[in-house]
Amino acid sequence: MASFKALLTTEQADGRFESNVVERSTDDLPTGEVLIRVAYSSLNYKDALSATGNRGVTRQFPHTPGIDAAGTVSESSVAEFAVGDEVIVTGYDLGMNTAGGFGQYIRVPAAWVIRRPAGLSLRDAMILGTAGLTAALCVDKLEQAGLEPGEAPVLVTGATGGVGSIAVALLASLGYKVAAVTGKSSQADFLRRLGAQEVVERSALQAGVEKPILKEQWAGAVDTVGGDILFNVVKSLRRGASVACCGLTAGTSFQANVLPFILRGVNLLGVDSVEIPLVVKASMWDKLSLQWKVPNLADLVQEVTLDELPGAIERILAGGQVGRTLVRLD
Ligand code: NDP
Repeated sequence: MASFKALLTTEQADGRFESNVVERSTDDLPTGEVLIRVAYSSLNYKDALSATGNRGVTRQFPHTPGIDAAGTVSESSVAEFAVGDEVIVTGYDLGMNTAGGFGQYIRVPAAWVIRRPAGLSLRDAMILGTAGLTAALCVDKLEQAGLEPGEAPVLVTGATGGVGSIAVALLASLGYKVAAVTGKSSQADFLRRLGAQEVVERSALQAGVEKPILKEQWAGAVDTVGGDILFNVVKSLRRGASVACCGLTAGTSFQANVLPFILRGVNLLGVDSVEIPLVVKASMWDKLSLQWKVPNLADLVQEVTLDELPGAIERILAGGQVGRTLVRLD
């Protein structure tokens, strides 16, 4: 048994949710084959939903959020992992209804655990985290649907956010021309430094919702926001192009009509990074450690401690996220 620090979200008598750093014991953790001393976690939009009581993400409180964790195996009851192995866990139930990476220890099923790829440090793995994995899955799906570098730009929405900023950096490093959509015009230089050739005001993607189809522009798109913006993206894809849909910050529902599909043969591709088979996650992590290594991770990260997390959670919920927030669990 070890005691450790964790962020604990509790429901107050008045129905509000509060998150505080508390001492916990490894005895409080769920059963599982692998106990991991967490070195780094990261903040994702979903963590902020969990930390503020969103029952669609977390049913029962008190709870420790954190859908990402990277660290060292401390105990293992399976042959695949030995004490001292460096490992990564993202998604499945971690941080949802299983105590997550905003604690210095997690205990999880071995079936959730990936060995750290040689080409990535634990820290770099968590700068990427679920956001990086999701961005990579989006690019992979777009390429499987025929996307390749060319003259026309690939659009990324929610571009300053976690998934968006890594998608911009990854696509640019793979030779794509990237058009980055943002509501933060003050961050245009940030997006250009990540490799965006063009920065598009979010309002431009919100106009023309009433039109059945729009001018053909994008060779492909990574959409992290949903809502009317996704509708407009579908209507402005070039012939045969695809949009990878992974997020909902602008809304969970969106309008649609069949014209872009039947006149231009466009594709709407869904991306889930949470419940996909472990081998698929592992192959994406291998790619992110080798041929898809994102070059400018240092430019898109800010680091926080557990004590600083509540402020970062407020910022991400308010749509103010820029790049990735790494959580240091020392
Ligand atoms: P972030 O908060 O880091 O990024 C979201 C970005 O969306 C913001 O930075 C902002 O970028 C933009 N945005 C915020 N509010 C609005 C709005 N009202 N309208 C339009 N754009 C808005 O979140 P993450 O990158 O962590 O996640 C992005 C989305 O992807 C979330 O919905 C998340 O739940 C989802 N997700 C899904 C996964 C999956 O497996 N399918 C995995 C990971 C995330 P800007 O100001 O530049 O426009």
